[in-house]
Amino acid sequence: MKEITITNIQHFSIGDGPGIRTTVFLKGCNLHCPWCHNPETISPDVTEQYGRICTIESIVDEIMEDVEFYQESGGGVTLSGGEPLLQADACAEIAQICGEEGIPVLLDTAGNVEFYLFEKVLPYIDECYFDLKSGTETGYAQVGGDLQWTIDNMGAVVAAGVPTVVRIPIIPGFNDSVGSAEQMTRVLAGIEIKRVDLLPFHRLGSSKYTALGKNYQYKDIATMRPEQMKDLLAIFRENGFEVAVGG
Ligand code: SF4
Repeated sequence: MKEITITNIQHFSIGDGPGIRTTVFLKGCNLHCPWCHNPETISPDVTEQYGRICTIESIVDEIMEDVEFYQESGGGVTLSGGEPLLQADACAEIAQICGEEGIPVLLDTAGNVEFYLFEKVLPYIDECYFDLKSGTETGYAQVGGDLQWTIDNMGAVVAAGVPTVVRIPIIPGFNDSVGSAEQMTRVLAGIEIKRVDLLPFHRLGSSKYTALGKNYQYKDIATMRPEQMKDLLAIFRENGFEVAVGG
């Protein structure tokens, strides 16, 4: 029986896509964003204190517990992480079963993986939340990623007909300037992206670093207020995007 390594399953989630959702947080990430709110998901090592190995069947059983809430709210299932595509076969299997049960599935990815991993999942997902961290290769180097790879994969997902929302964590001192926003609009210009969500920095993951015995570089940085997004929202709007402040 196929297995999947997760950190958590969150029921009645309302920030991870439309309606009421069940979010499956898959363990393991190939990036290392220093502001990460889910540091327990980064290492795929299951001997750490966070994480458990489950069967696909047990995950599907949990998902099915809330099926009436998805139907009533227009919700569904979100596959998040970490980077869910590091376990693309498991994602594809869960998404396929959900599809057969009429449950919409959203993939929440940072997209720095070989495209063949996307190809396993794309036939079964209804929507994609695609992270953009920076508009420069220098910015991506700081999180261990690659801008061009991100953009190429994003373009291919959109070309495959999957409705895609770009999600940008706005991080003080990293990508919160007007110049950074302009760079990001430029790299998105060649892709048929309509909607962009800006996610203001918060410190809700801080206690997880303490629990893991890790230093949190952003522990003294203030949480950003939605009002601070005003200038950045204007840049994206001027460039033709539907942009909102997301959670
Ligand atoms: S891509 Fe997401 S899960 Fe991975 S390190 Fe960055 S913020 Fe954390």
